[in-house]
Amino acid sequence: MNQNHQFPPEYFKNSQDILETSLGQLGAYQSWRAYDPGAKHNVDERYAALPALTKRDIREHFPQGFVPPGHDYQKGLDSGEIQLASTSGSSDAIRVTNIWYQPWWDAAERASWKLNSHTARLATGNHPEAILVNARNVGIISDDVDLPFEKRRLDRFLYLNEKTNPTAWSPELMNRMIHELDVFKPVILEANASFLAKLCRYAAAKKVKVYQPGLIVFTYEFPSRIFYRQIRRVFTSPAISSYGSTETGYVFMECEAGKLHQNSEACRVDFQPFKPEHGGPLIGRILVTTFNNPWYYMLRFDVGDIVRLDETQQCACGRNSGLIASSIEGRFINATLTCDGRLITLRALDDVMSTLEGLEEYRLEQPSPCVCVLHMAGQRRDKSAFGKEAAAILRKVYGKKADISIVHEEFLAPEDSGKYSLAKTLFPLNIKDYLDTN
Ligand SMILES: [Zn+2]
Repeated sequence: MNQNHQFPPEYFKNSQDILETSLGQLGAYQSWRAYDPGAKHNVDERYAALPALTKRDIREHFPQGFVPPGHDYQKGLDSGEIQLASTSGSSDAIRVTNIWYQPWWDAAERASWKLNSHTARLATGNHPEAILVNARNVGIISDDVDLPFEKRRLDRFLYLNEKTNPTAWSPELMNRMIHELDVFKPVILEANASFLAKLCRYAAAKKVKVYQPGLIVFTYEFPSRIFYRQIRRVFTSPAISSYGSTETGYVFMECEAGKLHQNSEACRVDFQPFKPEHGGPLIGRILVTTFNNPWYYMLRFDVGDIVRLDETQQCACGRNSGLIASSIEGRFINATLTCDGRLITLRALDDVMSTLEGLEEYRLEQPSPCVCVLHMAGQRRDKSAFGKEAAAILRKVYGKKADISIVHEEFLAPEDSGKYSLAKTLFPLNIKDYLDTN
């Protein structure tokens, strides 16, 4: 890989400051000092020598281990300067509470807008924005009663959905969403791809015209190609991915040319490649260090996602201020294994599943190695052929010996976390077995 990216001048200073404060003064990183080769080495080498911060570490040291001297956690909470934010645990079962400092989040978001010409033009910070995600993740939950428009407005935002399970959406509720897009006229529509796809399947079937926002931004979960195609039947607006997490803020933004640029004003990203047989050196995990958050120091946080670096590290858009990724490959927890033990990222699986004619939703589970159970839903009537085609696709990926069974479903529901899981093993995988440590 060519190292053509240039980091902004502040990047190394920010990296160094966060490192020094964390190792020198924060309880969470006390045990990391033993790994630090010291100030004689450059900052990249020092980072590379350190462990990764896990959700378990956050739970163990929260909150005092992450708050720097000069900041009083309790006073910050009492005054409302900071809040607490729980993450939904994105199907990896570990719920974490984080310190939430709104000005830091907003600054990271604003910095990310520069990385795409549409957001640079449309996102002003007071643009109307409609949000279609699981209410369990963002917004106001009301599963029993439908909330009126005014109850789902907050500042410049409109929450289109107050439900935790979109399989319970009634036609009236979906009509309401479509109507509100027309009335509210969002400049940006932010959405879980799975939720927006469901609304689009409905709109396409009913042949309803839908208001076209200036831009669609996918967040919160992996945007399956299948969902993308369903959305494209209804929306012509440009659609991009914004990638980040509660812990790390805005980490990558897809530019208008379709590559993902590191938000290097707001965070440092360390990339750790997988072994070649698992997709390395271009595919690997990322560890994120946040900048400019005076309340909460995240150093080399393992977000749990797999990224494919762009081979050329150049983009037609001309931006080169940080790492360039060609795709987010999905969460490690959503990776599966071939019969000979090779890692298949969700992106790799999704690419082949999206070639199956008529498939609307799927979830692949591996109860044990070399066993695949595919739950699938679609409008095709020839279920037997539909299932056989799916099994043939999976066999090509997972191996001739793969034990494949097909379960036809009417529809699929999100997991307890609020997000859809498209694939997972039901046995544990340890990421360390896949990282190339040389
Ligand atoms: Zn670009």
